[in-house]
Amino acid sequence: MQEGIIKGRFAPSPTGRMHLGNVFSALLSWLSAKSQGGTWLLRIEDIDPQRSKQEYAELIMDDLHWLGLDWDEGPYYQSERGDIYEHYLKQLTDNGLTYPCYCTRADILATQAPHESDGRVVYKGTCRNLAPGVKTGPAAIRMKVPSEGKGILSFTDGHYGMQTIDLTTHCGDFIVRRKDGAWAYQLAVVVDDALMGINEVVRGCDLLLSSPQQIYLAQQLGFAPPHFTHLPLLCNKQGQRLSKRDQSLDMAALRTSNTPEEIIGMLAHAAGLQQSNEPITAQELVGEFSWDKIPTNNIIM
Ligand code: GLU
Repeated sequence: MQEGIIKGRFAPSPTGRMHLGNVFSALLSWLSAKSQGGTWLLRIEDIDPQRSKQEYAELIMDDLHWLGLDWDEGPYYQSERGDIYEHYLKQLTDNGLTYPCYCTRADILATQAPHESDGRVVYKGTCRNLAPGVKTGPAAIRMKVPSEGKGILSFTDGHYGMQTIDLTTHCGDFIVRRKDGAWAYQLAVVVDDALMGINEVVRGCDLLLSSPQQIYLAQQLGFAPPHFTHLPLLCNKQGQRLSKRDQSLDMAALRTSNTPEEIIGMLAHAAGLQQSNEPITAQELVGEFSWDKIPTNNIIM
């Protein structure tokens, strides 16, 4: 439990229609906030200009209303907050915590050790000590992390318990502004969660491993990090996480053959909040919500 009033949020990227997995995250973060008497904010994370579309933002909001997941504050749009991110990036830069990086993706992959073949990209700091003027052209901006052994960060996830990660071997210096000028998710999310007063982040455990970077960034910016609680992911029968590719489980398809109560009922059952798929409203589930009931293993739908 947090001190004071809980403020949770849902922060979708409008790059497609919501699917069942997104609805699961929205429902559980809403329930967590509401069951503690808290509020819930909506933030549209449209910082990727190539992939974000206003029409998807509209559909996400329409789907949330239809499901009965109403927000108390927002919507905020990250695409309108560039000046704010600029201000905080300058603060990091003035404190000597950033540097320009000219590496291409191919340069970075060429430095990866075989054990990092799980898809994680760990930046080895190639551009960290470049003398000014040695390289020119478009550059990403990276955030320096402490050297190996000095950047060990621990935090307690509300559902998965104590996590301990060394930032150097976990991610290395990470991007806060992309080469094309777009703001990186890590910077925008940290600044927004802090300025919007978010003290509880509930989201899928695919983002568990982003939390150390976010806590570190928050600390460097002088913000108190929110409390993080991650959720199991919804997977298909092959064990793959549901994604926008599973069109039969996106809200366009689901709304043609289900009521909101049927969808919420199915997700409540998957979350261990009720014994069967029985239709139920989100509001009726508020009193049933408890983290103890929710599994930690991913859920096959
Ligand atoms: N915008 C991110 C996404 O849709 C989620 C960010 C977060 O919850 O921290 O995957």
